[in-house]
Amino acid sequence: MRVASVAGNGRPLSLQPLGAEVGVAYGPPMSTGPGPEDRWECGSCGTPYDPDEGDPDGGIPPGTRFEDIPDDWYCPVCGASKSEFVRIED
Ligand SMILES: [Zn+2]
Repeated sequence: MRVASVAGNGRPLSLQPLGAEVGVAYGPPMSTGPGPEDRWECGSCGTPYDPDEGDPDGGIPPGTRFEDIPDDWYCPVCGASKSEFVRIED
């Protein structure tokens, strides 16, 4: 008698791709934009630094983040150095 060979290629049919692109719609959180948490204030006179306004008189164009201000910048009101500014946290 003959032994019937197993037909087919032996691949199970239980794992069918359903066309669902898993992981594609899951992007990494890229929320590193300017936010309201970027507020600084002069520790000497209390003058706030607004990144939206910058300090045009001091050579800081509007939209400059405090971290991007040169270290030789100083408070336009009292002349305190940048290092004397403190970060304001809500
Ligand atoms: Zn000041």
